[in-house]
Amino acid sequence: MTCDTNALVSLVTGHWSLVTDKRVNQYPVLKYTNSDIVFQEIPGEVALAVNVSGCPCRCPGCHSPYLWRDDGQPLTTDAVDSLVDRCDGNITCVAVMGGDAHPDEVDGLMQHLRQRYPWLRTAWYSGRSLLSKAVDLRNFDYVKLGPYLAHLGNLRNPKTNQRLYRVSDGAMQDITSLFWRK
Ligand code: SF4
Repeated sequence: MTCDTNALVSLVTGHWSLVTDKRVNQYPVLKYTNSDIVFQEIPGEVALAVNVSGCPCRCPGCHSPYLWRDDGQPLTTDAVDSLVDRCDGNITCVAVMGGDAHPDEVDGLMQHLRQRYPWLRTAWYSGRSLLSKAVDLRNFDYVKLGPYLAHLGNLRNPKTNQRLYRVSDGAMQDITSLFWRK
């Protein structure tokens, strides 16, 4: 995995108060290939999962190499509004799956969702080990961190290196173990 360590900060404290310039995501570089309503990715949530292309993480054993390509449709605020509105109130969360090439755009999208759909939770699946400085945790309810390493498995494997955090008041609580309960 390649990481720009200058753009990342440590998760040692689990507390964040970063504020960066926020842009409404009207002219995005993010693109998405498809979306789906999912029940497993965020425990307790019915999530609209939006798969973002152009992934830079290059995880060994990547399960979705088609997402490395710069494919799909622009993930504008209008596009995400359309996807959410089509769910007709049947979701509790929007999960952006990927987007590590442009975390500032993911952040802007989440900020938009916060404002337009304040009753929906927001989640981001990042393939990075550390959280980008370009995001403001106040825009997120959940963050998944960690590359996919085939020999350790995904979040449903107790050996996994990946972590899912619930975000509350700027603090990140590791809730990965929720995936392992029968
Ligand atoms: S983050 Fe996901 S899509 Fe990107 S390389 Fe890793 S497994 Fe593949």
